[in-house]
Amino acid sequence: MKISCNVIRDILPLYVEDMASQDTRDLVEEHIASCENCKKRLEEMRTFEEPPVDTDIAPLRNIQNTLRRKKLQTIILSVMVTLVFAVVTMAYLTTPEYIPYNENAVSIIEKDDGTVLLNFSEEVSGFNVNQSPAADNSGYVYDITTWETIWDQKISKNQLENTVLNPNGETVSSIYYYNTDGSENTLIYGDSITNGSVVTLPRLVLSYYVLFAIGFSLICGIGWALFRKNEIIKNGLEIIILLPISYMLAHLLIKGLHSATYLAGRDFYAILLVTIPLYFALLAGRNILKKLSVKKPKSTL
Ligand SMILES: [Zn+2]
Repeated sequence: MKISCNVIRDILPLYVEDMASQDTRDLVEEHIASCENCKKRLEEMRTFEEPPVDTDIAPLRNIQNTLRRKKLQTIILSVMVTLVFAVVTMAYLTTPEYIPYNENAVSIIEKDDGTVLLNFSEEVSGFNVNQSPAADNSGYVYDITTWETIWDQKISKNQLENTVLNPNGETVSSIYYYNTDGSENTLIYGDSITNGSVVTLPRLVLSYYVLFAIGFSLICGIGWALFRKNEIIKNGLEIIILLPISYMLAHLLIKGLHSATYLAGRDFYAILLVTIPLYFALLAGRNILKKLSVKKPKSTL
């Protein structure tokens, strides 16, 4: 029986895939030897369906890489979330609870050599001193306040040591104790610098940083909307915009909705310490979400 080209073409895929029996192989080869059309068809199939060995395992390797990357990202995500949680908890435990002025909180010890010592009571966990030159050039005016923290009350009780207010021998004109509730400062040493009342105000620098972060993310957001067809710019902006977003979230976690602070440095570092792991957590989260949303349409096709 003469085998038609159609029959040969039906079994060519098996032949190419090396899944045909020896009898079928002989049959195909016999036909090919005398049929130019089928020979050509076979060559086409071979060049098309037999990619080089290297790319043949590439999909497998890709899957392996994807799995490994996904695992790594999940690890990064959990480590970073843990870090964020740890820093926020630590910041909460060490948040200053300002102590309103009372005579026991801090007392002033004047020494013969002109140094002035601050002596704190047991309840005090920390203190802050602002130094500014007196208006009449008689020396310096000091504003101090004290606070306690949950950490020191509940976990580690460490007694503050006496602190020298003027280590370089500056003249201490007056010392005020400032309250953080907006009430006026209390003169605790020296002469009053003014006839009226003095109030030490919190710093607002953190709100400028938040405004900057909002502005920066708005610009990124607009850029994203304009260039969302360009995959590279879109991805780049998504990676960049997570930075100000992390900062704003970190601010919320550390300061809540407030931004006024008597300890700008401490609050800013705490916010930065949360921003960094939060950023990497969001990046990892974004990548994981992105993979999921890419896979879904494929599986429904
Ligand atoms: Zn043929």
